[in-house]
Amino acid sequence: MNRPLLNRRLAEFGTTIFAEMSALAARTGAINLGQGFPDTDGPDEIREAAVRALREGHGNQYPPGPGVPELRTAVAEHQLKRYGLAYDPDAEVLVTAGATEAIAASLLALVEPGDEVIALEPYYDSYAACIAMAGGTRVPVTLRPSEGRYVLDLDELRAAVTDRTRLILLNTPHNPTGTVLTRDELTAVAELASERDLLVVTDEVYEHLVFDDAEHVPIATLPGMRDRTVTIGSAGKTFSFTGWKVGWVTASPELTAAVRSAKQFLTYVASGPFQYAIAEALRLPDTYFEDLRADLRAKRDLLSDGLAAAGFEVYRPAGTYFVTTDIRPLGESDGFAFCRGLPERAGVVAIPNAVFYDHRDAGAPFVRFAFCKRTDVLEDAVARLGTLAA
Ligand SMILES: *Cc1c(COP(=O)(O)O)cnc(C)c1O
Repeated sequence: MNRPLLNRRLAEFGTTIFAEMSALAARTGAINLGQGFPDTDGPDEIREAAVRALREGHGNQYPPGPGVPELRTAVAEHQLKRYGLAYDPDAEVLVTAGATEAIAASLLALVEPGDEVIALEPYYDSYAACIAMAGGTRVPVTLRPSEGRYVLDLDELRAAVTDRTRLILLNTPHNPTGTVLTRDELTAVAELASERDLLVVTDEVYEHLVFDDAEHVPIATLPGMRDRTVTIGSAGKTFSFTGWKVGWVTASPELTAAVRSAKQFLTYVASGPFQYAIAEALRLPDTYFEDLRADLRAKRDLLSDGLAAAGFEVYRPAGTYFVTTDIRPLGESDGFAFCRGLPERAGVVAIPNAVFYDHRDAGAPFVRFAFCKRTDVLEDAVARLGTLAA
């Protein structure tokens, strides 16, 4: 048995940086701004709705494979109300075990071995692993900072398409850079997808976390895109219940059926009672979503200003709850070394963006901090980071 246990497709995905950095945080007592989960729970009434579902026996046994009808209807209503996108809750909505399963099922369903998948780099870590599990080849197109914002180079994107390209995997609002793709950028992606007959899988889990005058545009709303796009959403980030793992896919009946074929053999179903609670959450009044945005915008500014004062170059995000920084003004260039030393130096944990790149050099000087934390925690972190400037 000389063969490695972990198969070749997954060999490069042995352990994640999040495990290493969270262990470092625990060992050193540093403030963990590495992993992106909120340190306070979502709305009480939604938590109570889950308790009620459990008590009343809703979802305690296997729910229907595509998701409970209440949630599928609420997802369809949400897409219609927010974006004018009409989906049939029966044929065009699929509930998944978080966006993570939606991503895995979409790629396993739609990618043949040898197909190329274009992903925006830096990319969310599960994309690379799922493309590999599907036997596909990832083709990164790098987002680069320009005038304070990470932008998509449309020429680079066009040049990345080959005869083997099957789909473009988008993420907007974008983790880790915080960029929100503009209508112009997305229009160019849509034109390219139509011209080259490509599918688009778009991860929109941060759709409600956009700030200032940024606008979240689902690519499925653009001409010709509805029927070639798989749109992925999730309750985790929007409602601050990341442990519930309720996600969903909206797409044409054909695409939905394809994704369901893979999904049924991953988890089959998940999160029964929570599905009922999230159906209620999606119908919360607009004030919920406005308050969430206002709260996170204030936290973004608190952390961004603190990081700038500490000497980082800060790319103030238009969306998500992450801020990416450049450490070169601090005289540093290696994000890995910087993040490994930061708990000792300043009592804070962050993530080196290089882990989200194939072109590690392109990502080397960038470091990501999460601001989905209590204000007092962020204030403490900012005070600690301030010592770097001294
Ligand atoms: C958090 C996150 C996910 C995972 O969502 P779940 O619903 O928790 O599975 C997917 N994509 C991105 C970009 C994320 O940041």
